Amino acid sequence: MSAPFSICGREISPGSREVIELPLPPLSTHSALHMPAHVIRGKKDGPCLLVCAALHGDEINGVEIIRRLVGLGALDKIRGTLIAIPIVNIYGFIHLSRYLPDRRDLNRSFPGSETGSLAGRLAHLFMNEVVEKATYGIDLHTAAIHRDNFPQIRATLDDAETRRIAEAFHAPLIIDAGLRPGTIREAAVKMNIPWLVYEAGEALRFDEISIRAGVRGIVNVMREVGMLRKSLRKKSYRPRIVKSNFWIRAPQSGILRLTAALGASVSKGDILGYVADPYGGREEQITSPDNGIIIGRTNLPLMHEGDAMLHLARFRDNASASETVDAFQSELDPVESTGISGSEPIA
Ligand SMILES: [Zn+2]
Repeated sequence: MSAPFSICGREISPGSREVIELPLPPLSTHSALHMPAHVIRGKKDGPCLLVCAALHGDEINGVEIIRRLVGLGALDKIRGTLIAIPIVNIYGFIHLSRYLPDRRDLNRSFPGSETGSLAGRLAHLFMNEVVEKATYGIDLHTAAIHRDNFPQIRATLDDAETRRIAEAFHAPLIIDAGLRPGTIREAAVKMNIPWLVYEAGEALRFDEISIRAGVRGIVNVMREVGMLRKSLRKKSYRPRIVKSNFWIRAPQSGILRLTAALGASVSKGDILGYVADPYGGREEQITSPDNGIIIGRTNLPLMHEGDAMLHLARFRDNASASETVDAFQSELDPVESTGISGSEPIA
């Protein structure tokens, strides 16, 4: 006999799937607001995986990842429970904004408090009604507005279980990232919940490779923790762990032309782009300060001195990291791998 599983006061019986509506503070118009959560419970007991997206309301790749994930037929046979929440920051999502209406960042407001700000209350509700039920968590993000991230996992790798699922996700790159105060990851780690942040793509855009890699990654984790049957397919690359990473910043204000692509392997001294004044005058070359791979870049050509232009990652072995990036790109490229750029999910 399985132990009862309830969320928001609703009991979910084994072998059923439901959409639960978590009640939220209404809009200022008094329009009622809810946070829909898919809850899929297998017939057999197993772990509880929480997958959530759009904690930053403008980071929407994860919304599409979850839409495709919950449509997979394989979920009919899971062990344990999948909680999948496509839009956590509903308020920000409506306004195409990272933030909440009180201008706070929800992902700096955890664990929150019942009597705190709107952000604090939302964080508190999310911790108590959702995160608390999870044995594993995956939080889906993109780069901030006007920036793009090469698909990467961020996690605390000194925890063996976290490292196991970080590698199983099979994003090409993994960053052993310190815990930032107020994030949901920090709050979850304090509750001993192995937690991954998947960072891929740009805010307010869909990126097909990032979406495919996200759906596949979640399925891979479900296989690793015993929620789905393991796959016998041989992997074409090994995820690489970033040794160190830093932003290359604009040496002067002006107009930026980047020549380095996301995912490019670069050597020390390579030209990565140019910053010029907008009137045809002074132009400065941007050269790479080291060998590595471009894992993030700005898409905005307007710079102030000191603005972040390119995120460079260094590896113990740059050549094999570059091979991983190439293998990942050719495997996931929607045109190369299937001949169509549609939305067929990869499972
Ligand atoms: Zn984010």
